[in-house]
Amino acid sequence: MKRIRLSIKLLILGLLAFAMFGTYAGSLISSHIVSKNTLEKNYLIENQYYAKKLADTTNMHFRDMFSNLSVEARDIDYKTLDSKIIYKDLYDLLHSTTYFNSTWFVDRNGTVIASVPDINVEGTKVDSIGAREALAKKRHTVSDPYVGINGKLVILISVPVFDNIGTYIGFLAGTINLHEDNSLKTILDQHPKHQNNSYVYVVDSKGNIIFHPDIKRINDSVKENIVVQEVMKGNSGSQELVNTKGQTMLAGYAAAEAANGWGIISQTPKNAVMKPTWDLARQISLFMIPFMIFVFVLTIYLLAKIVNPIKDLATYAHQVTKNKPVPTEKIPEWYFEIRELKRTLLIAIDFYQKKLHFAESESKRDHLTGLYNRRALEKLALNSDSYSIILFDIDRFKLINDQYGHLKGDEVIQYIAKLITENTIETDLCFRWGGEEFLIILPDVDLAKALLIAERLRKTLETTISPTGNPVTVSIGVGHLPESADNFSELLDMTDQALYKAKQEGRNKVIAANKY
Ligand code: GH3
Ligand code: MG
Ligand code: MG
Repeated sequence: MKRIRLSIKLLILGLLAFAMFGTYAGSLISSHIVSKNTLEKNYLIENQYYAKKLADTTNMHFRDMFSNLSVEARDIDYKTLDSKIIYKDLYDLLHSTTYFNSTWFVDRNGTVIASVPDINVEGTKVDSIGAREALAKKRHTVSDPYVGINGKLVILISVPVFDNIGTYIGFLAGTINLHEDNSLKTILDQHPKHQNNSYVYVVDSKGNIIFHPDIKRINDSVKENIVVQEVMKGNSGSQELVNTKGQTMLAGYAAAEAANGWGIISQTPKNAVMKPTWDLARQISLFMIPFMIFVFVLTIYLLAKIVNPIKDLATYAHQVTKNKPVPTEKIPEWYFEIRELKRTLLIAIDFYQKKLHFAESESKRDHLTGLYNRRALEKLALNSDSYSIILFDIDRFKLINDQYGHLKGDEVIQYIAKLITENTIETDLCFRWGGEEFLIILPDVDLAKALLIAERLRKTLETTISPTGNPVTVSIGVGHLPESADNFSELLDMTDQALYKAKQEGRNKVIAANKY
């Protein structure tokens, strides 16, 4: 697997992506939390408000029902105790409103005088909870739910009926069938927030459900519920709670005093707030993602402007170590750090290159004379295929050493080096070839000219006072490529032989190398 090279660009891009994603996630999470909290609070307030409103409506509804029954109870027809007349009145009472599912008149002994709809109970005694309560209390009553004569779960709303002199003669009542339609159910059923699973339920003063969207739950006892307990005490408010199904609910509650202390609870499942908050997160994302892409692209562009000079500088430094530097003008230097880095790098490279150059040239030089040494020959490029060489050796140098000492001998060597440097041109290459032996390469110089130069050198030495106080002489061999030999080593050999010959022939002499 190829290893990814960690470049500054990659690192900064990674950092940028991390920072942007972090900001994005952070803003999403915070908006999610804020919107969730706000929605939860709003639902609590809304449910409390709605429960209170329903409680007020229910109170009003009960007052209306009572006033309707009270007005009817003053009708003299009831004092007749005539079931036929009363049946007619009950019929009108039932159908003039949608308050009740049945209407009844029961005398003080509990005997049914008439009921609508007629279910043939006329003349029979009623012994229901509602009837017993009405007979016992002889005033306005709202019963707890009970199973009525018709086998259905009902509540009984009753008012007392008195004769002219104020004697109690029975009660006039309407029943509300908890499983059937009636105006109370219509009021309680009108919950505006069904789409988020909000619902309303109503409990009586003992904590039994008397209204619930799930009909099966009617008459269940929920008095353990903390909100129900509050509402049973006549309080109103809002609270988060876990219902019997383990669902967390945001509930508002209010008591309906006129309805015998019923409690109305409006609640929304807490997880209903999740949908709007996710919708919000999606909307934020929809706005943020193009914006983030724009910022990202722009940042990459700006990043390139900042990072590219560093990259170029690094590439330059890398190439310098491989000895193939690229032009540095191309490296932009529009900010402080890169300017300083570039300047320092260039100074350092220049410094070390000079040092290297110096060391390199030093290695090619003879220390005593400053002329090229033998080693330098390999490193110097001879661009010409036609050149002469002059090879010479100091005559009787041993004697000079013996006579004047080694130091003087060195001075003589230096003196000769200086002299040949002064008597050659820049393109000529002067070497100290051995102890007291010198070589001059003269590019593009023919043999005849080289012989002349050698002769001039010999003569100059012969006539010039050396550091010893006397002149020193030299014996010289001169050769030419290709005149004297086919290659350099052969040329050197041939010229050395010429030099040897010059020595043999008495020294202080110039002899040309002979090819054959
Ligand atoms: P010939 O004319 O035959 O060349 O005689 P010569 O004395 O020059 O002969 P030889 O080659 O035997 O002696 C060379 C001497 O040069 C030997 C050595 O001590 C001396 N020599 C070589 N290099 C140096 C040097 O760097 N400094 C000094 N002072 N003497 C050197
Ligand atoms: Mg010698
Ligand atoms: Mg010698």
